[in-house]
Amino acid sequence: MDFELNNRDKELKKQMREFTEKEILPKVSDYESGKISLRDLTDSMGWAGIFRLVVPQKYGGYDEQVSCMALCLAREELAKGYYFAAATIATQGLGAVPISVLGSEAQKKEYLPELASGELKISFCLTEEEAGSDVSNIQTTAVRVGDEYVINGTKRFASNAGLSDACVVFAKTDPDQGIKGLSAFLVDVKNPGVKLKRNLPILCKDVLGEYSFNDCRVSKSNLLGEEGQGFLVAMKTLDVMRPTVGGHVIGLAQAALDAALEYSQRRTQFGTPLADMQATQMKLAEMAAELSAARLLVYQAAIAKDTGDEKLTLKSSIAKLYATEAAQRIVDQALQIHGGNGVLAGDFPLERYYREVRAPRIYEGTSEIQKIVIARRLLKGQSIDFDL
Ligand SMILES: Cc1cc2nc3c(=O)[nH]c(=O)nc-3n(C[C@H](O)[C@H](O)[C@H](O)COP(=O)(O)OP(=O)(O)OC[C@H]3O[C@@H](n4cnc5c(N)ncnc54)[C@H](O)[C@@H]3O)c2cc1C
Repeated sequence: MDFELNNRDKELKKQMREFTEKEILPKVSDYESGKISLRDLTDSMGWAGIFRLVVPQKYGGYDEQVSCMALCLAREELAKGYYFAAATIATQGLGAVPISVLGSEAQKKEYLPELASGELKISFCLTEEEAGSDVSNIQTTAVRVGDEYVINGTKRFASNAGLSDACVVFAKTDPDQGIKGLSAFLVDVKNPGVKLKRNLPILCKDVLGEYSFNDCRVSKSNLLGEEGQGFLVAMKTLDVMRPTVGGHVIGLAQAALDAALEYSQRRTQFGTPLADMQATQMKLAEMAAELSAARLLVYQAAIAKDTGDEKLTLKSSIAKLYATEAAQRIVDQALQIHGGNGVLAGDFPLERYYREVRAPRIYEGTSEIQKIVIARRLLKGQSIDFDL
């Protein structure tokens, strides 16, 4: 068992760290205030080649096949700078992976190179008002009329909706078939049948939105794979992306731990630095132990994806559940060590980290849904022990 990263992964992690330190950290307050737009941040990531990580090499990407480990490492480093950088690469991945998995050669050639360069930005539209955890309840329909499909419905919580040029839309082509009647379509947001209804107020502008599709006509060549393969493509996409949510939050938790280490040595009360008080040391030690466990679980899940391990779903659900919940606890403890300064916006980052750490426990499957997935796998006989 090897707990070391290989040289290529180490080099990638180093490059992402340098990008974060040079291009993201000095501008965070300007992104927060809207003085610099998130489009600028996305563009700079595109120029730096970061979106190549979500596309296979043949179409302009970084690795022969999209590497889950590379994506985890990238998100980990980017999250130490600003959550949007780590989230936007995921959103690009949520759009690109379905095309890699199920797209025709023509769709791959048309979309993947521009997704790799960042010229094209994409959203993933699965969630609806009545279909969050319960994807089978999707109400959006796509009806075949001649050589076209006509899409009607509303999608909520589409990440990057204010920035995207295209989206992958999940709609029922056969409403009587439940998830077996779900299909996936590529839709240009300039299509007259598509409307960005509103931005949803979370963290900052343009991050989340609601799209409505009103008699939105798309060519039959915009169908990804075959009718009825929508659920399959959504699950295959989440298989790649779910461990990377863990990558995101361990980066954020590491930044919180680093800030707590630094602050606790600087801040003196009762004539003693906080770091010399055992109560603080207990907190720091617990944070480090939880973060180490989370990091190993995330890397284990990434390796499971990249090696085709049959226990991928079990391992990635465990990683996402543990890492997101642990990161919440770590950020909370780091904030506590900062006292009142922890809840002030501005000079210290903890108030921002506290806002950033919450949503990953909800998206790409809530913690409760991960627990259901884990329990079902265990009850079906999969073991968390090592196979001999
Ligand atoms: C920041 C952010 C970004 C997002 N980005 C995207 C995106 O790009 N594309 C997209 O399609 N969606 C996106 N989502 C939506 C996200 O995937 C959903 O919010 C998530 O799946 C939960 O659905 P819901 O909000 O409808 O909650 P619900 O499904 O209504 O769940 C509410 C609560 O009930 C619990 N619950 C539900 N069912 C069960 C059950 N069977 N057993 C036990 N507990 C249960 C849940 O765990 C949760 O605690 C995003 C959400 C957020 C917050």
